[in-house]
Amino acid sequence: MELLFRQDAYLKSCEATVLSIDDKGIRLDRTVFYPMGGGQPGDVGRLVLPDGGVVEIVDAVKGASHEDVVHVPKPGSPSVAPGTKVRAEIDWDRRHRLMRMHTCLHLLSAVIKGDVTGGQVSDGKGRLDFNLPDQSLDKEMIAREINRLIAEDHPVQPRWITDAELAAQPELVRTMSVKPPMGTGKVRLLDIEGVDLQPCGGTHVARTGEIGAIEVTKIENKGKMNRRVNLAFVGAAAQ
Ligand SMILES: [Zn+2]
Repeated sequence: MELLFRQDAYLKSCEATVLSIDDKGIRLDRTVFYPMGGGQPGDVGRLVLPDGGVVEIVDAVKGASHEDVVHVPKPGSPSVAPGTKVRAEIDWDRRHRLMRMHTCLHLLSAVIKGDVTGGQVSDGKGRLDFNLPDQSLDKEMIAREINRLIAEDHPVQPRWITDAELAAQPELVRTMSVKPPMGTGKVRLLDIEGVDLQPCGGTHVARTGEIGAIEVTKIENKGKMNRRVNLAFVGAAAQ
């Protein structure tokens, strides 16, 4: 399966052929749907059939491997046979919000010096957990730093290194809970120029300025060594 979002996160649709269907969902030969993983939700959208029929896709999840995306149809959707040519379209507005917040969480991890133990990107908001001793984090200072990095409009781009190169630079791995997929020979790094460099297979915006203004909504103590920092787009709560 060709994962088009890995090369170009801005693709909204693609032509594809149905490979197989089972009780879990539909597999295509290529796709723009990002499957849930790395703290980022799976895409939703639709498959448009040759006769104009539409199969609404309510989730995208990983199948047997990292290269395998299962498109989960809404119950009661028209059936599709293997070999059918379809147009796969994601709900772009939602995906773009997820890309903006996902990229923003990279900025958060650059601003706070501590191991990341977990995280979640949601629509309009996101959070990271940090392994930090008992200390108070300053909400306003964190928001100011992140918004400064956003305003500086740093370029964001993926690049690939070999497993051996990554093994030689263990400091690149900030997230203890999500190990980068190794064993395929190469690892995808996400480079926010001058700010952050770490393995990540998610989807990101091309420049930090595209994120837009954010606020730190809440900092929670989740146990002795766990600080959870919650972010949201400014105005998101009012929408
Ligand atoms: Zn990422």
